[in-house]
Amino acid sequence: MVKRFAVIGHPVAHSLSPRIHAAFGRQTGIALDYTAMDAPSESFDAILAAFAAEGGVGANVTLPHKGRAALACHTLSERARRAGAVNTLIRTATGWEGDNTDGVGLVRDLTERHGLDLRARRTLLIGAGGAARGVAPSLLDAGIGDLYIVNRTPERADALADALAMPGRVHPRYLRDIGSLGTFDLIINATSAARDASLPMLQVALANPRTAAVDLSYGEVAIPFLAWARAAGAHDCIDGLGMLVEQAAESFQRWHGVRPETDEIYETLREHRAELVTAD
Ligand code: NDP
Repeated sequence: MVKRFAVIGHPVAHSLSPRIHAAFGRQTGIALDYTAMDAPSESFDAILAAFAAEGGVGANVTLPHKGRAALACHTLSERARRAGAVNTLIRTATGWEGDNTDGVGLVRDLTERHGLDLRARRTLLIGAGGAARGVAPSLLDAGIGDLYIVNRTPERADALADALAMPGRVHPRYLRDIGSLGTFDLIINATSAARDASLPMLQVALANPRTAAVDLSYGEVAIPFLAWARAAGAHDCIDGLGMLVEQAAESFQRWHGVRPETDEIYETLREHRAELVTAD
């Protein structure tokens, strides 16, 4: 029987995950059925339970359910526990195991595809939602220098810093004070602000000629931040398409025990990037 997988989110209709996993399946010769399932916040648990009852064996979870998904799991991987957010569900005999492949996906894209050396980079993380929680532990593991976290809701930046438990290295700050934080070698936009055309005000002095500026979004949603980064003189301006493909490959490996090659689907999607809608 063909194994069933899904991406669960809201909205999710534009998700590229079904296309990416279908491509990985063809490449590796693994038959799979991977669909997008729309789940408004109040119905996430019911939709996940129905998916399991119908034989679903694995799922990706996207905005806004990554925190909720962590609560629905029987066990969590170490990286999902540290993130407090789950983007990959694996069906086990006793329930769902939760994993988080966002962080390893981002680090692999930055270091292997874009050839960046992340070590000792003074880093600014804008946002403290599910994606920020997923990537922060992996960035620290990859050897970045001090990590400054700002968020529209400051309590969430504080909570993320507390969860990372590295007070000497991780510093939550107020978004309104961003102009006094100095310059950064790595700036990551992990907000969904541009979705409603309200990117926080960023000073050009945040970037220096070595800065890598990364938006976790892709397609139209990434345009305002990357335009700011170019105007600020950042050395590298990178969107989230590579991370998307790499986190999917890591999920695929968790489910199927095989690591797919990612360059071909990345290049195919890149050719159509202007038409892409961030949905994962
Ligand atoms: P969440 O809903 O969990 O978090 C949203 C974040 O954006 C919060 O920090 C929120 O702040 C902030 N935010 C939202 N609107 C505004 C605004 N108007 N001004 C300032 N801050 C704002 O979403 P995720 O963390 O899951 O996703 C964030 C982005 O990352 C999305 O665009 C998503 O598509 C992308 N992403 C890309 C991935 C990839 O593989 N490329 C993987 C995962 C996510 P507050 O706490 O105050 O609400």
